[in-house]
Amino acid sequence: MAAMTRAAAAEAFRRFQDAAPDPRTELHYKNHFTLLVAVVLSAQATDAGVNKATPALFAVADTPAKMAELGEERLGSYIRTIGLWRAKAKNIIALSKALVLEHGGEVPSTREELEKLPGVGRKTANVVLNAAFGQPTLAVDTHVFRVANRSGLAPGKTPIAVEERLMKIVPTKYLHGAHHWLILHGRYVCKARAPDCPKCVIADLCLFKDKRTAKDPENAAANRRPESRRASMPAPPTSGKAGKSRAAKTGRTA
Ligand code: SF4
Repeated sequence: MAAMTRAAAAEAFRRFQDAAPDPRTELHYKNHFTLLVAVVLSAQATDAGVNKATPALFAVADTPAKMAELGEERLGSYIRTIGLWRAKAKNIIALSKALVLEHGGEVPSTREELEKLPGVGRKTANVVLNAAFGQPTLAVDTHVFRVANRSGLAPGKTPIAVEERLMKIVPTKYLHGAHHWLILHGRYVCKARAPDCPKCVIADLCLFKDKRTAKDPENAAANRRPESRRASMPAPPTSGKAGKSRAAKTGRTA
């Protein structure tokens, strides 16, 4: 598949930044540990679904010690609405114990240490390194994978191939926000079933051969769907626990 030039990729991210200057995760969290738990819970689940379950959970267990004390069975009662909850509960208790025993109750800030934790893979580590520690990592989830391949930004057959290509082509100054911009773009504009090309800020740069146009009747139907009436790059949430707590914890906006 054709790939975007560096110049086109730079222009795409300039536009993404212009549309959403302060992109951030839509997951709600209070500190580094609850961010890690939220990201583990979000695997093969929606952020909205995770956000419904976590306020009650984090009210009783917002540190590794409290989570380990809560135990697998009681943790399960808080997250039963989330897919794969049994396996996730097991991993979260195991990683909480590991954080207490091996990291003094703190979430480590290196990929190597994070990926040793139960239930933490490369994607989860990338999200935590980026959102909690401000590192220029780029997690490739289903949205990022689709947008990167469809648009030609970073064609690749596997998430790691897409990640490596993105790390090469995304200008350094955009690397920290790139993950969030691509997720937002995939979630609200370049959607899996019906990309909303007429509202896309990078439509003229995109190399997707089946780009939709305003005159395309199928696309017009897609545009009538309520979810398609969102802005082309919605502003990230600016209120709630996530933003406030992150700023309090890190002194910066992720
Ligand atoms: S033009 Fe369409 S296919 Fe291309 S990135 Fe935009 S929404 Fe996706």
